[in-house]
Amino acid sequence: MAYDYDVVVIGGGSTGTAVARDCAMRGLETLLLERDDIASATVGTCAGMISSGLKYMDEPDIVDMCSEEVVHFRRIARHLIMKNPILTPLMQMSDVSTGGNFAEEYSKRAETRDVPPVLFLTPEDALEIEPTLNPNIIASIYFEEYFISPFRLCLLQALDAQRNGASVRTYCEVHDIENLDGGGNQVTFFDRVSRKTESVVADCVVNATGPWADEVADMASANVEIRPNKGAHVILDRRVVNVGIIAKAVDGRMIYLFPHENTALLGTTALDTWEDPDKLVASSDEIEYLLKSMEWVVPSVREARIIRTMEGVRPLVADWKKPEDDVTRGYDILAHEDDAPGIFSFVGGKLVMCRHMAESVTDMVCEWLGVDKTCDTHMQPLPGMDGDVDVLALSKKYGVSQHMVERMRTRHGTEAEQVLELADAHPEWKTTVCTCEPIMEAELRYSIQEEFPRSLNDLRRRVRLGTGPCQGTFCTYKASAILTKELDWSGIDYQLEIMDYLAERWKGKRPSLRGEQLSQEELMQGIYSCVGNIDQSDAEYQRKPWEGIC
Ligand SMILES: Cc1cc2nc3c(=O)[nH]c(=O)nc-3n(C[C@H](O)[C@H](O)[C@H](O)COP(=O)(O)OP(=O)(O)OC[C@H]3O[C@@H](n4cnc5c(N)ncnc54)[C@H](O)[C@@H]3O)c2cc1C
Repeated sequence: MAYDYDVVVIGGGSTGTAVARDCAMRGLETLLLERDDIASATVGTCAGMISSGLKYMDEPDIVDMCSEEVVHFRRIARHLIMKNPILTPLMQMSDVSTGGNFAEEYSKRAETRDVPPVLFLTPEDALEIEPTLNPNIIASIYFEEYFISPFRLCLLQALDAQRNGASVRTYCEVHDIENLDGGGNQVTFFDRVSRKTESVVADCVVNATGPWADEVADMASANVEIRPNKGAHVILDRRVVNVGIIAKAVDGRMIYLFPHENTALLGTTALDTWEDPDKLVASSDEIEYLLKSMEWVVPSVREARIIRTMEGVRPLVADWKKPEDDVTRGYDILAHEDDAPGIFSFVGGKLVMCRHMAESVTDMVCEWLGVDKTCDTHMQPLPGMDGDVDVLALSKKYGVSQHMVERMRTRHGTEAEQVLELADAHPEWKTTVCTCEPIMEAELRYSIQEEFPRSLNDLRRRVRLGTGPCQGTFCTYKASAILTKELDWSGIDYQLEIMDYLAERWKGKRPSLRGEQLSQEELMQGIYSCVGNIDQSDAEYQRKPWEGIC
């Protein structure tokens, strides 16, 4: 019997978008359903490190898999990737032998990953590279790791799935999954934009909902258990360090401080959590743990202003009775053959493994459907990866600053030229909307037209709108006006959009309000209230789940 789809993928994070891409590339009729925006949950709170996996040295299969996935990502998405130098300062002699084991394992795979082997540096050499280090270090390890933009990766996977025939529907929340008597699974969802409930029938359903995997499996009367593990990041207003720092925290765990775009990222905690992932915010304990631990090696870390925090939940494999840091970072796919045939659920995994996870589940889906197609996702480039971009030449040709073009390149790759063409056709769109990043009006327009954002928060994920030191203080009004115009919204929609954006930002900012950040916040609230009159608006705004607790 022919159903509406071969496969419905639930969840638009790194896993779900990779699955939708693989299924579509193998010719399966595919529907991706995401209840919010692409990359709006766990993956959007992660560090984006596509690491050598060496934190998990005692799981060599995982280390090998991560190394191989980096090679694939560099082939299919080089424009989204950065290679960052990292120093691990050693403070005492006992650190040296651990460093030796790490160096051996890392160096074995260095050539495959196109990085130099690990180097041991004297304190003088380390301080020359990073003068902010504590001068009492006894040595330092130097190595290199790759990072990818999680938002752009997920978006490009979703766009590529679409280009290969998949339907991608954001703001569609699955409410029910019914295993039909005659075969097939009926998936019922609520479209938050049209405010309508719809149902579709598919042979297979892939549950790629990360920390919500148990909740979604339950809709199909299937059983999934995860070990939810929360992690916090603190974002600082400047690049506090020149290179990444990985150091031992107060409890001996490893934490990091990475320069990230025009900010710095300090993370992360790893704690069992039983809180609702929809309401979770970083706690002051987590923030203090990170600052206290990092100031041992970078004493000036507290001089920077914390501009916001992020908290996410790792959907770890349910591996109990061991410290959370020892739980495998591998993944499992549960085929619910007895209770919900045709439904597959993910537990565990990481961003760096998302393509691998997708290949494994799509092999299972193909076997279920009797389709004989092999995976090609590791060979076929993602959108924007069909050549190199000559930033200087584009800058001269379109009369746009090199810095602006370079930022576009990291987001759109070769498709940056399409943004510049739009600017050429509408020279008035060459104005800079977000000065922290910077983002040109033409890029916002391009993103709205081509990358299906439905809100300012979606635009933040697409082009980093409002993510810099001012956190949207100066660009939100302008960007909301552009969005309102492009999507043909009303004046009330315009105001609601700003409130919604501010509420989302508040979630991350509230735990960070201390020191100089308080006066920055006062300035921002003053601008929004006095200039924009936003506190006097009579638009009916629905509060977010976390607003009661923040
Ligand atoms: C603090 C932190 C740092 C990390 N750093 C790294 C790192 O540097 N490198 C790395 O490789 N990994 C890292 N990870 C791990 C990585 O982020 C996750 O393993 C991965 O992002 C999970 O992606 P996902 O797609 O499975 O889940 P998610 O990103 O959570 O996606 C699941 C999606 O399902 C949607 N959904 C839920 N319920 C429904 C429903 N009923 N209907 C429709 N949609 C639904 C959600 O809205 C969500 O978008 C980190 C994790 C954390 C928390």
